[in-house]
This record gives sequence, structure tokens and C-alpha cells, in this order.
Amino acid sequence: MFEKNRSLVNSIEGLSGEEREYLYSALNIHGHACGGMPMGFVAGLEAMKALGMNRERNMDTIALVHSGHGHAAGCFVDGVQFSTGCTFGKGIMKKEPKGKWQFILVQKKTGKAVKVRIRNEVLDSAFSSPFITHYRSKGVIPTDVPEEVAAPAFKRLFSMKPEEVVEIEGPFMFDLKKTKPCFNRVTCSICGSTVAENYIQLEDGKPVCLDCRH
Ligand SMILES: [Zn+2]
Ligand SMILES: [Zn+2]
Repeated sequence: MFEKNRSLVNSIEGLSGEEREYLYSALNIHGHACGGMPMGFVAGLEAMKALGMNRERNMDTIALVHSGHGHAAGCFVDGVQFSTGCTFGKGIMKKEPKGKWQFILVQKKTGKAVKVRIRNEVLDSAFSSPFITHYRSKGVIPTDVPEEVAAPAFKRLFSMKPEEVVEIEGPFMFDLKKTKPCFNRVTCSICGSTVAENYIQLEDGKPVCLDCRH
């Protein structure tokens, strides 16, 4: 696997030596070649460029990822972790599930931030590629997708200009206090569970929990 991954990453042009090593690590840890992880990887590189910073070294940057659960954006997050160095383990990556291929990178001391999202056209073409239409959407696990299909899906973004891949908002100031713990509780109007207020949604003006929402 390592040799196969090394030759796949080496076949990509235009990466710096350091970026190539991190991409190789990302591919090894992620465990399969797909189109999603490189999206996060490129989004991370472009976020750092827009903020004029290098990969984080001192827990001074935080990534707020807007992917969610149970959909195809999961792989995106691994790419963001590896290119930015903002990992879950270091406590400088947080998931704010919104089901989007998007994240915010914030410099903790200054609050300077950028929001980076994958362009719709990139997602359109990824979702109409054989990797998704012939394999993943039919239940084939990523490691069973033939190499001649997975490798182009993995490499595709790196042959594009970054501005064709991502859309960047900012830099702007981001108030990290907004992500401080919520101490308010609300009772779900349907099941009666006590729920932290920031997880409550309103339906017909009534508070409902995520389990009871329609
Ligand atoms: Zn993947
Ligand atoms: Zn409920």
C-alpha cells in the first residue's frame, strides 16, 4: 500500500516537497484514494495562503469544519486536518455539522479567519464521476474501487487552479467566544428531553430536538 500511495502522490505535479509529504501521510492514514480527502487538503492549503500562514505548529489555529455525518463529506475533514495540522487530537478542530464541504480557519490570538468552500462545479463533476456513480453510490467500499477509477478521482483537483477549486471568504474577524459552551437548557416539545439550547430547532415556533425534528 505504501509504495502504491507513494507513486500516486509522486505522479502529482505542482506540489512543494512539504505538501507532497503531508499528502502522502494523509493518504496513508485516510486509507483509500478518493475525491473527497484531496478537496479538504486543497481547501486547507488555500485557507493558509489566504491568511498568510504556515501549517499550524503551536495550537494557535483552529479549524471549524462544516461537514456533518452520514453523507459524503466525511473524507473532506481528513484532508483539512493533514494540510492545516489542525487535528481533532490536538483539540484544534471542531465539527459544526452543516452538511457542507466548507470550513473556517481561525487564528486564535487575533481572530483573523477565512472561510473556504469547495465550488459547486467541482462537487458537480466529482459526484458525476465514475468513482461515485459506478461504485460508491452503489455501495462499493472505497478500497474496492479499481485503481484506474480512484487514482484520477484523487488527482483531479491538483491539475486545476486553486481558484477553480475553492471559493474564499475573508479574511474577516471571527469571534471564537461564539463557540464557548452553552449553559442554557430547553425541553423538547415532542419527546420531553432536556437539550442544550444550541442543539434545539424551532418547528412551528416550538422547540424540538434533533431526534424529533421533521
Ligand atoms: Zn475518502
Ligand atoms: Zn425530542
